[in-house]
Amino acid sequence: MTDSISDPVSAPREPLKVLERIRDRSMARRPRPGEVCELCGEPIPDEHNHLVDLKARNLMCSCRPCYLLFTPDGAGGQHYLAVPDRYLMFEDFSLTQSQWDALQIPVSVAFFLVNSELKRVAAFYPSPAGATESLLSLEIWDEVVAANPTLGSILPDVEAFLVQKDKTGNNPECYLVPIDACYELVGEMRKLWRGFDGGKEAREALEAFFDRVKSRATKV
Ligand SMILES: [Zn+2]
Ligand SMILES: [Zn+2]
Repeated sequence: MTDSISDPVSAPREPLKVLERIRDRSMARRPRPGEVCELCGEPIPDEHNHLVDLKARNLMCSCRPCYLLFTPDGAGGQHYLAVPDRYLMFEDFSLTQSQWDALQIPVSVAFFLVNSELKRVAAFYPSPAGATESLLSLEIWDEVVAANPTLGSILPDVEAFLVQKDKTGNNPECYLVPIDACYELVGEMRKLWRGFDGGKEAREALEAFFDRVKSRATKV
């Protein structure tokens, strides 16, 4: 049981391909009964850690001992990376209107992933089909990081920059979150999103998701 956030090399900006590869991971933190560590096969509790398989671009459920093997820098070599448990909330995220426009966030929520291998930043937006993806220009990303140096500490492949705008499109809330939280979000949106604005159920799920993120986040 693995799933993928798209890899632009094998899924070059084709939304349907991307969606096939972002499977329903709403259960990412609540595996089905009997779910096991994908490395060693030991049963794992509902709350468990994840690893990113860099070769397959998969998220893998992991028991604690296997997770800890890959926690120190570089222990997993070029293959596995432990997904950290860091949640940050940016209190005064600094961006000009034109930089916001350049991020091209069409709906209320987007998240951004840095792919270390491809040296690219991909943006994901909830949609009726789960998530759509587009590539962000690196110049724009570098500008955003330059204006917000803390964002520069983002760990490629395992952490994401998450943005939620209010109904007016203003007052965005900005977070740095583990990538498995984004899988959870995509899974829920895929299940619930209807039409352009997502519909009532999706909005409620989004609100609950952001409440959880906020409650775990350290303000920076
Ligand atoms: Zn294990
Ligand atoms: Zn899992």
